[in-house]
Amino acid sequence: MESIVSTPTDEPFPYKSYFLEKKDEDSKLFAGILAHEMVPLEILRAAGLQVVPLIFVGPEEYSASGGAIMTHSTCSFARNIVGAFIHGDIGFYKDIKYLIRTNYCNGDFIGMEYLCKEFHLPCIELTAIPVKTQEYSIAFFRDQLVQFAQKLGNELGITIEESEISRQVALHNTMREALRKLQGIGIRGMELLQRYQEAAVLEPAETCERLDQLYFNNEEFLNRSKNLAKNESNILLTGDPLFVNDFFATWLEEFGASISYYDTWIGARMAEFTVDEQYPDVFHALARSYLLDQGLDRAVPGALEKKIAKVESIVASNNIKGIINHTLKFCDFLAIGRGRFKEKLGALVPVLDIERDYAQSGVGGIKTRIEAFIELVKGGS
Ligand code: SF4
Repeated sequence: MESIVSTPTDEPFPYKSYFLEKKDEDSKLFAGILAHEMVPLEILRAAGLQVVPLIFVGPEEYSASGGAIMTHSTCSFARNIVGAFIHGDIGFYKDIKYLIRTNYCNGDFIGMEYLCKEFHLPCIELTAIPVKTQEYSIAFFRDQLVQFAQKLGNELGITIEESEISRQVALHNTMREALRKLQGIGIRGMELLQRYQEAAVLEPAETCERLDQLYFNNEEFLNRSKNLAKNESNILLTGDPLFVNDFFATWLEEFGASISYYDTWIGARMAEFTVDEQYPDVFHALARSYLLDQGLDRAVPGALEKKIAKVESIVASNNIKGIINHTLKFCDFLAIGRGRFKEKLGALVPVLDIERDYAQSGVGGIKTRIEAFIELVKGGS
């Protein structure tokens, strides 16, 4: 694992070898999860499971295959993930023994149901994540998390100790603290994105070790970082995340848009909260943090206004010169309010609103739009 965790920044992270090692050497059971940021991974890891986030996307054909089963108004991401299972060429997906299904969104609810049934995988459900953030919602979510841990324990034939969940909370908090430090050390674009993607996959201690080796304890980097990216315009990407293997992340770089801030759940949002380690009820502490500080896009009422206020604040405090609002087709949370978002934020900085799927056919049009956007951003710098 040492050589994997220390993979240099100019090489793709070897996810395949990573999962192979987890399976063969650590003998961990794999649990697949699409549920974005609302499932406390602390509970899954306290159960001894290897978390396999379904964040590895493939070509347009995957979405088409997924679309043969789910309707075409299911988001292109969920269709792509279902298609990846059907095509069967992401090897470590085949090692998944359990799937976690939630009501985070339509894509999760339907996509995971299909996968569980078709691939005969036990489905562990957390299907009543609240959409409000009142005290009674937190209490309700706390009870949901207790039941989720019990279901998980029953399925695995173990008791998940609260002390182990608390230990995982501390580890995840330490990782969040390390991720927060990524903003401001001068890395951006693909390099910054890859660190967030890896942190979504690696265990917390592995992420910390990796970031220490690459940056925080790396003399050579620390010397070099003084001169990094001083002259580039700061661009924020918000909306749907860029998943592993998504060609669009490379396009952005190639067309001149080097992202300095990822306001996405694979991005800075992963580090925006700390679970209260002192609170006597660990389930309540988890419920409070996840409900109040994550899942902003699905909260009602007022999600859009909160998001606008949050991005306005990031723009001011990070010297952001332009915003890319990235929406995957049929992702309802993010499609709603795009116009209002552009109107409000556009009064501050140029906003490029992009809605897309995993088709590569529109490259010419996207290139032109990104280049025009960069001109505007540079003109305003
Ligand atoms: S892209 Fe949107 S609709 Fe699709 S799984 Fe993610 S949040 Fe859900």
